[in-house]
Amino acid sequence: MSGLPSTNPTDIGDAVARHPVDVESVLADVAGVLNVQHARLSRIVERALVDDEWQGEGIHSPAQWLAWQSGLSLGRAREIVRIARRRVEFPMVCAAFDRGELAVDQVAAVMRAPAWADELVVDFARAATVQQLRRTMRSEFFEPDPDAQPPEPSADDRDRIATGTTEAGRWRINGELSVDRGGIVEAAMTEAKDSLFERGQVDATWADALVEVCQRSLDAITSPSRRDRFKIWVHLDAASGGTTTTTGWKLPATVREHVLCDGHVQPVWEREGVPFNVGRSQRIVPDRTRRVVERRDRGCRVPGCSHERFVEVHHIVHWLEGGSTDTSNLICLCPKHHRMHHQGRLGVVGNADDLGGVVFTDWQGRVLDPCGRPNPPTGPPAKPAVTYRHPVGGRLDTRWVGLGWVHPKALERRRQAARSRRSVADDR
Ligand SMILES: [Zn+2]
Ligand SMILES: [Zn+2]
Repeated sequence: MSGLPSTNPTDIGDAVARHPVDVESVLADVAGVLNVQHARLSRIVERALVDDEWQGEGIHSPAQWLAWQSGLSLGRAREIVRIARRRVEFPMVCAAFDRGELAVDQVAAVMRAPAWADELVVDFARAATVQQLRRTMRSEFFEPDPDAQPPEPSADDRDRIATGTTEAGRWRINGELSVDRGGIVEAAMTEAKDSLFERGQVDATWADALVEVCQRSLDAITSPSRRDRFKIWVHLDAASGGTTTTTGWKLPATVREHVLCDGHVQPVWEREGVPFNVGRSQRIVPDRTRRVVERRDRGCRVPGCSHERFVEVHHIVHWLEGGSTDTSNLICLCPKHHRMHHQGRLGVVGNADDLGGVVFTDWQGRVLDPCGRPNPPTGPPAKPAVTYRHPVGGRLDTRWVGLGWVHPKALERRRQAARSRRSVADDR
């Protein structure tokens, strides 16, 4: 800490107050320390991603895990996870980050550049503000590898999509679209896949993504809520307790309980196995009760879970076992945690009206810790190798940006072309 009498970095605020020191140099010191620690955080996350150390009972995604463990916002945690995933692609940028020369937001912004430009953009990243980096790290400012261009589509390509069934009775889709229209489909599917990933389906496939896009489209027409999808016909045999769907499939008990927690029931009266009357469809949890429970819980109640929308209402004592639809017996769970509970991988017991009254346990019966706590510092944090220098802060003319950001191969092509032009001129 240059110019400071204190050796304890936590005293910097006091030191500034007591001694007439250069505030900006203190800021540079603190910024450097922060950068080094953020870089360290990204390396820890990088390792946790490789070893899957972030996975746990209440955890949907690495970002959610990091936000929980560190007390950071989900947005900042996502940024650090993105950096951690791309560290190997940006060795130069990350080296500067590790030395304390780049702030975490600068690194996140500069990583929007293509990976081949790592060495080309690192100096600019040191001098530019986050705003300037966000504005300039766009594809049009980069001249890519000429060999990486996608092949030109042939002129007689028509857009077509065909669906049908296979001999095995499975639904089939195939077809092709122009690159621009296909881009729309791909963007939607990529977004859906990312959103499934964020919601905990880390192994989501393109098939899952396509179904997700279609389900959202249907939701937008009929109802914004996912729970209406649980409106399926279930025949309950009062005598045997067995459950079948209309098509006669037997439902496993776990699926039956999951569906009946927050579904619609529609009584079907039968006489000697023949239905003769169908009653009115009713929610197991009445709408008014559901609103009270949703307002009370404001999202999934599992510790560490950040899901607020698309929650399902779960009966702590199951409805089929006489559990009431009073608010004390109802609790909001996200779809993933609801499924986990009915698969026996997450225990939920207690009085839901009492905010600390519900105990969640993992599959081994261990109680889930309600929150992560930071460890108090045991010594001064690691100092940066060099003093942080803030961005230049001047006006940025985007016209000059990108002049140097040409893929090495493209640059070599240009030089060759210039050389051959010169030799042709020399021959004349
Ligand atoms: Zn349930
Ligand atoms: Zn949850």
